Amino acid sequence: MSTSDFNLNHQNKSTESKIVASLERIAQAFRVLLWQESKENSLTPIQVQVLIFLRFHSDEKCKVSYLASEFNMTKATISDTIKTLGQKQLITKETQQHDTRSYIIKLTKKGKEIADKTSMFSKEIIKPIDSLHPDDKEHLLLSLLNIIRHLNQSGVITIQRMCLTCSYYDYSNKTKKHFCKLLNQDLQPTDLRIDCPEHLIQQD
Ligand code: SF4
Repeated sequence: MSTSDFNLNHQNKSTESKIVASLERIAQAFRVLLWQESKENSLTPIQVQVLIFLRFHSDEKCKVSYLASEFNMTKATISDTIKTLGQKQLITKETQQHDTRSYIIKLTKKGKEIADKTSMFSKEIIKPIDSLHPDDKEHLLLSLLNIIRHLNQSGVITIQRMCLTCSYYDYSNKTKKHFCKLLNQDLQPTDLRIDCPEHLIQQD
């Protein structure tokens, strides 16, 4: 059995395990900040996450089944969340003419206001990132994208809309350049997207 990243005898001698432990601390910071923001608005963290997602994504993604995959939850759990948000008058449901069983979830004016406010919950996390040297930001972004791609490919997290998992993405080992076949242009490392509206899922 391999040694745990959280075994301090091992961790203190391993750069890789210290990075894992650091990511865990940052994940904890996200949970704490999201929880604080949720409490202030009498909402649960998942309700806030759904509101923020609805605020910044297109209609075809604002459906129960997509949200369930996005948040790695069952459709029943997401349906309950949507029901509660409806009771709080933060969302409405728009039935589609061609498919009356499915509906698009829309934010109300109040829902948009709360989504805008709560979406600032990460402002403490961006501060130290802002002050990094541009080269360090680029390395950090590329490293994180590679970690996320691995987690996606190994099935730990589901939906991803990043360049590295997109059918339009190309990378040349020879020139070390990233390329988008949709935009038909090279992408600088800092142009690589983590959540692209035009992302096309790669087919196996
Ligand atoms: S379509 Fe979007 S996600 Fe896909 S490669 Fe181009 S910029 Fe990246």
